[in-house]
Amino acid sequence: MEGVFLLLGSNLGNREEILNQAIAALEKKGVTLVSKSSVYETAAWGKTDQQAFLNQVLQVKTEYSPKKLLGVIQQIELELGRVRKVKWGERLIDIDILYYHDQVINQAGLAVPHPGIPERRFTLIPLVEICPDFIHPVFQLDQKQLLEKCKDHLNVSVVEDC
Ligand code: AMP
Repeated sequence: MEGVFLLLGSNLGNREEILNQAIAALEKKGVTLVSKSSVYETAAWGKTDQQAFLNQVLQVKTEYSPKKLLGVIQQIELELGRVRKVKWGERLIDIDILYYHDQVINQAGLAVPHPGIPERRFTLIPLVEICPDFIHPVFQLDQKQLLEKCKDHLNVSVVEDC
């Protein structure tokens, strides 16, 4: 299966603006936007006493290897002034590599497909929106099937005016 998918998340400051800044920063570094999901709002996952997250999935085109791409997104997280206080704590921007074509990578510091995908509605709902038929290379299920099996119950709603 062809396709590189990233997840953006933000729960601090002007969250919509930060998602757009992340897209602009990716494009500036040569990571081309192919398509993007709607913006979704989700209660904070794993820690509930903080502002809700906005999440968005991007399909991108890139010449970077997975490891290089991780370096690029970490640089962008730093550039956009990520504030990292506690695990699952507040952050200006978090960028995850969800899928890198059908590659399966388990290295120190890099797991692809992202291991959180099957258990997170805030990831699966935008994936179903933009690539419902993309097959998870390990589970051999498409995004719709993964969502059907997902046991997460957090409410995920579209932010209409993004
Ligand atoms: P977090 O910011 O809490 O999502 O975690 C960031 C850490 O997860 C980084 O140190 C990465 O090395 C690691 N990581 C492992 N797999 C991935 C992935 N697929 N995408 C982004 N970060 C990853």
